[in-house]
Amino acid sequence: MSDNGTRILVVEDEPTIARAVADRLAAEGFGVEVAGDGPSAVERARAFEPHLLVLDVMLPGFDGLEVCRRVQAERPVPVLMLTARDDETDLIVGLGVGADDYVTKPFSMRELVARIRAVLRRVERPRADAAAGGPVRLGDLEVDRRARKVLRDGREVHLTPTEFDLLTCLMRNQGTVLTRAVLLEQVWDWADASGTRVVDSHVKALRRKLGQGLIRTVHGVGYSLEAAP
Ligand code: CA
Repeated sequence: MSDNGTRILVVEDEPTIARAVADRLAAEGFGVEVAGDGPSAVERARAFEPHLLVLDVMLPGFDGLEVCRRVQAERPVPVLMLTARDDETDLIVGLGVGADDYVTKPFSMRELVARIRAVLRRVERPRADAAAGGPVRLGDLEVDRRARKVLRDGREVHLTPTEFDLLTCLMRNQGTVLTRAVLLEQVWDWADASGTRVVDSHVKALRRKLGQGLIRTVHGVGYSLEAAP
């Protein structure tokens, strides 16, 4: 069950949690390093070039949100955030930080590993998607799945892997309202609908980056992508 060469950086300032997570991930076959504060996390991310970040929110130095911003600014890397409480998750979701998933403490190692594998699967999927053909257009929006590039009105929009997957999922189902549960299953590979806030968070981030007028909220149902009138 070795994940040859897959590197994970664990950023957590509570030594017992950091140790437990690192040990479990190493046992699962991942290459693991640990950082205990904001500045060293950014430094380790640069040197270690992880495939995924497990990132605590409250950290000495500067917090996980700032780590996320600084690391993403240099190199896009999937981020799984560890949050202390549900209301902290709500807060972060509201900010639309570019995290790919959230796990609330206390979590089981089994759950954490499952969520990590789901994120990694999503990042791998583009290679399969690449055969899907050339750019697709919707009004002034252009999406090139092969290059994973998005243009709106001729201007490039930088999306995280999850935001990109969400956009292409909405695009494939253009004009159809997709429920949060369906989006969770299709984009996040989750079979249960316990993480609908993650969907809202990413829709919010997508809207902020793409501009208004593309993603419609259907109250109490879900979201759909529609061309600007
Ligand atoms: Ca902490």
